[in-house]
Amino acid sequence: MSKSAFYVEGIPVYQRFMSPSQSNFPAHPMKPEYITVHETDNYSSGADAEAHAVYLLNSAWGRKASWHFTVDDTCIYQHARVNQSTWAAGDGSGPGNRKSIHIEICVNSDGDFRKATRNAQALIRYLMKRQGIPLKNVKPHKHWSGKNCPRTLLPGWGGFIKEIESSAEVVQVAPPKKPKNHTNYSIVDYLKSRGIDSSKANRAKLAKEYGVKNYDYTAAKNLELLRRMQLAEEQPESKKNPKPNVTEYKGNSIVDYLISIGQDPSKENRKKLAKEYGVANYDFSAAKNLELLRAMRSGKKKTSSGSKQKKGTVHLPKHVDFWGTYKLGVLPVKKNIDWYLRPSRYGGLTYEILDEPYPNVVTIQTSRGKRNIYVGPDTSAIVKK
Ligand SMILES: [Zn+2]
Repeated sequence: MSKSAFYVEGIPVYQRFMSPSQSNFPAHPMKPEYITVHETDNYSSGADAEAHAVYLLNSAWGRKASWHFTVDDTCIYQHARVNQSTWAAGDGSGPGNRKSIHIEICVNSDGDFRKATRNAQALIRYLMKRQGIPLKNVKPHKHWSGKNCPRTLLPGWGGFIKEIESSAEVVQVAPPKKPKNHTNYSIVDYLKSRGIDSSKANRAKLAKEYGVKNYDYTAAKNLELLRRMQLAEEQPESKKNPKPNVTEYKGNSIVDYLISIGQDPSKENRKKLAKEYGVANYDFSAAKNLELLRAMRSGKKKTSSGSKQKKGTVHLPKHVDFWGTYKLGVLPVKKNIDWYLRPSRYGGLTYEILDEPYPNVVTIQTSRGKRNIYVGPDTSAIVKK
């Protein structure tokens, strides 16, 4: 496992810096004036901060995309220094790309989005202070390009901003006035209020339990311990390991149902789920949606080899300049090539195999969406299963 570089309010920050030679990282010198908030929109299980760090170090699989931090429910990854510009705002050379630090919040289905959001708010507080950025300059991605991002947070954006401020009071080491609710300030008070032994010996024990490294009774370490215990408290045990497909939602809308279990309700994902749950000829009609809803509620998947199972990866080596792609649903013959991947430009390209619609043809996710590519034995593609 990787070592953390530093902590923000008790949250470990790992640094995995991209190289400015990467095709997805412009790295213009920057004096940050804004902080921009995004969501990854990747609801897959395992799409956490570390996964996005790997993605960015792989030049975002050829996409012109990069940002500074990814935050999930347990940690933060830093991908770029805050004095280097990235491609995240969608405003070209505008102030979104050239003057803002960009933070992506993970929405992975096996993570706790609420906790990830709190971690992001802690990071924003830290960056505001370090970089002298005012709260009014904390913006949603939408501000720069109109994109519906951060999708989940936008409807409650005012509340999100307010929490950045209010939580800042909670974590002040030396409160200027006597706090009304003392449990928020001192670890000793906090422990006493919960009937927990607040002696040094017990605090050292708790520090170990809650993952506070090198606990030395200093204000900073006490605060880290307090913050970690509060976070653990905010999260009831039952929510830490949610059972799949279990929800309070009782209605008949597949979209509402998927949202309630933290799954992507897009047509693409519903089609995938229909396959997984054995709903034949899924066509987005009301009848088929209901059939899918019932199948998901019953929790029975069609086969053990659903799309959750890893289908492996395909590597296109760096000595190849052009690799033709085909839209899904057309025959993979030369006249149907619609675009080219450029393995040589990126030192080779590796993709996860999403499907195998024909022999020697695999479906991958490209910057232009899903595409098929031909990977037969007469090519130099390396398929790993
Ligand atoms: Zn965004």
